[in-house]
Amino acid sequence: MATIYHDDDADLGVLADETLAVIGYGNQGRSQALNLRDSGLQVIVGSRPDASAEQAREEGFDVVGIAEACRRADAVLLLIPDEIMPEVYERDVAPALQAGDLLDFASGYNVAFGGVTPAPDLDVVLLAPRMIGPGVRDSYVSGEGFPSFVGVHQDATGRARQRMLALARGVGSTRAGCLEMSMHDEASLDLFTEQGFGPAFGCVLTTAVQTLVDAGYPPEAVLLELYMSGELAYTFQKIREVGMLKQMDFHSQTSQYGSITRSANFADLAEPMKERMLRSLDAIRSGEFAAEWSGLREQGAEILAKVKEAREKIPMAEWERRTRAAFGLD
Ligand code: NDP
Ligand code: MG
Repeated sequence: MATIYHDDDADLGVLADETLAVIGYGNQGRSQALNLRDSGLQVIVGSRPDASAEQAREEGFDVVGIAEACRRADAVLLLIPDEIMPEVYERDVAPALQAGDLLDFASGYNVAFGGVTPAPDLDVVLLAPRMIGPGVRDSYVSGEGFPSFVGVHQDATGRARQRMLALARGVGSTRAGCLEMSMHDEASLDLFTEQGFGPAFGCVLTTAVQTLVDAGYPPEAVLLELYMSGELAYTFQKIREVGMLKQMDFHSQTSQYGSITRSANFADLAEPMKERMLRSLDAIRSGEFAAEWSGLREQGAEILAKVKEAREKIPMAEWERRTRAAFGLD
């Protein structure tokens, strides 16, 4: 059974005398900084001089450069994009940290795969929200909170877990529940969702679209039926609320009977799919994927832009444009 922390396990007082530096005022940075401040903690923002630094200032934060913020802080939350983190860490963060400082990551990626290697005299923790940036703020304000994966990667002071839990409470995550795991497991699960589940699910969806279009149905009708109406998204919401099996009850008896009995027609696809998924998982866990991606450096963004441009030319992209226009979704 996994360890799951709630509000009762965390004491905000642990961080009462510490200065927290939120580095990067973007998706996660802005929301976490606002939540921590509203929880009564002392927060400064470290940013390069840009529009987000201006916004942080307008929203009442003391904003300084990244290195300066790290020098002033006892706890540093590194909330900048993973791709640029190794470079920024080495140049601005590492030289400014002192023994006993707390270093917090919102993703295990860099620590797990060698992009960042924190000095052994630091407390190093993971607080990885299972929520996009705006949701981190909205769910704090609504009082609902959001779940996270959390972990202690390095405990130099003997207080790392307490400090991590105080942070988790301050951002509003222990309210919903924080599940303990390693940086490597968090990064692997995250990447698997993107590389093992996402493409497989995408393949099922596009295969269904292609099958129906080839059978002569208008693309607008096919896309509306399969996902553009919002029914699929609504069903996923129900799956989250009541579970995969129970949500079946919201569909007609004809739907339930047909769907359950016909599942057998696809059962033999599970094994080969699992094999492919395992291949993705192996490349993730061994660090092969991370090495490939970091090996590409600036080239990576260029390659990504080219692939995305090519995708704009597939028939599905045109069908989506037509359907969105027809139903006023733009
Ligand atoms: P963003 O893309 O929103 O960027 C965060 C900030 O970093 C911005 O303020 C940006 O400034 C700044 N920044 C970008 N490039 C540089 C640079 N070269 N030097 C200095 N600052 C820079 O990041 P996210 O909030 O999406 O991600 C932060 C962390 O949170 C990552 O580890 C990510 O994996 C994790 N995470 C993100 C989630 C999400 O929903 N986005 C969910 C869970 C975890 P500017 O505004 O000028 O571009
Ligand atoms: Mg993710």
